[in-house]
Amino acid sequence: MVDAMGQNSTGNPYAEVKLGSLPAPASISDGVWLSGDLHLHSRHSTESTNNPLPKIFAFAESMGMSFVCVTDHDNHVQGDVANNTWADPEFKSDSLVLLYGAEWTTTRGHGNTFSATPYDHQLFYDIRDQRDTLIGRVKNELGLHLSANHPSGKDHFGYSYDIINSIEVWNSAL
Ligand SMILES: [Zn+2]
Repeated sequence: MVDAMGQNSTGNPYAEVKLGSLPAPASISDGVWLSGDLHLHSRHSTESTNNPLPKIFAFAESMGMSFVCVTDHDNHVQGDVANNTWADPEFKSDSLVLLYGAEWTTTRGHGNTFSATPYDHQLFYDIRDQRDTLIGRVKNELGLHLSANHPSGKDHFGYSYDIINSIEVWNSAL
């Protein structure tokens, strides 16, 4: 039934809702555990470091890492990470899995995007001032993993936590 204010008044919004079954926790002994770095900046983030990509990848290899996502600040290139970090001829490695991503750098805080394949980051940058519901929908359509960055620090993620896949719990400068 819809009341005079256009609200549906038939359901009790406080009624108990049964949750579906949760996925099984990951096994500690099955499969292979990999280590990597999911938040770092290269010379394409102009204010962060001036490290060229080969130096970063060589250090990651020396630390025994298996994967790296170079998360340069997208606002330094107006969202065009595809023609900067990803197009860098040195964005390659024989031993590391390189993920595609960026640090989504907005006036409402920072989040990291991760993808196994290139995606339309320009679109994700361009919608940063839209409503959370739209951002979440586009994120899903792009197949992105979105992580809330440094939630207890400066420039913490200021969007709804309903649209994220993970939360950064620790970071540090080396
Ligand atoms: Zn940040």
